[in-house]
Amino acid sequence: MDIKARPKAETPATGTAPDPSHAQPLLGRVAVVTGGSRGIGATIAKELAASGATVVVNYVRGAEAAAGIVAQIEAAGGHAGTEGADVSDFDQVGAMFGRVKEKYGRLDVLVNNAGILRDRTFKKMSITDWHEVINTNLSSVMYCCNVAVPMLLDNGWGRIINISSFVGQMGNFGQANYSAAKAGILGFTKTLAIELARYNITVNAVCPGFVETEMWSSVPPNIQAKILERIPMHRVAKAEEIARGVRFLAVEGDYMTGQSLNINGGVYMGW
Ligand code: NDP
Repeated sequence: MDIKARPKAETPATGTAPDPSHAQPLLGRVAVVTGGSRGIGATIAKELAASGATVVVNYVRGAEAAAGIVAQIEAAGGHAGTEGADVSDFDQVGAMFGRVKEKYGRLDVLVNNAGILRDRTFKKMSITDWHEVINTNLSSVMYCCNVAVPMLLDNGWGRIINISSFVGQMGNFGQANYSAAKAGILGFTKTLAIELARYNITVNAVCPGFVETEMWSSVPPNIQAKILERIPMHRVAKAEEIARGVRFLAVEGDYMTGQSLNINGGVYMGW
């Protein structure tokens, strides 16, 4: 779906950061949210659009759901478009960012959010379960950054926000593939942060705890109760609470790079 005709927002001058005191600090900026068609990604897309960004909502299967998120953003006065691409496939990622450049002319914020689960105990985990999760949750982050970084360099300013998980920090039963991918994101984030800091591009991770999504609703009540006991705040996060952390990193986190923003109700407390 193409972005609707609208008055052009003023293009931010090269190398300038958003003004956090502005009602819509991301006006004139373009953000890509991978896996923006539902769950946390959809909420991040709406949050960034409410801050003025034109948001590209990526999906792989959920074209209709992604179009629905764009419609919600537009109904609220924001600007957005959809882009289908399997982020575990480098060619599709390259083609998607090519289209973004053609349609919107720039990229300012990249949120690597797309992720899948293939939970099995290690004894039952197949090589396919391993590769699917590593490719979709970790290699995708490298693929998107590979193509996006030159676009961010063009602006002299950029924000990369990678959605990891507390599971990447502490491990979790039945999630050897997922925890390896999410921990891999943290190492990748730190290295890219070191390499890109001199270009005014920050790279951070967000590590959510359990979040109220479709996935959480499908957990049986007795298991939910056991999980809630482990969380000091005794509740799961709302997707909005994760999205606000992403907005903070995009708009206000000027001197923050290579960090993990833990939004987890206290379920994991690292150094
Ligand atoms: P959902 O399962 O609700 O949504 C996943 C999103 O990723 C969908 O938009 C889906 O698109 C997209 N996606 C999946 N595979 C691909 C692919 N190959 N290419 C492009 N897009 C893809 O997930 P959540 O909202 O729950 O999770 C979002 C992120 O947050 C994930 O990285 C997850 O690991 C992380 N996280 C989630 C937690 C939770 O409790 N929910 C806790 C901690 C971290 P489509 O609709 O087209 O299938």
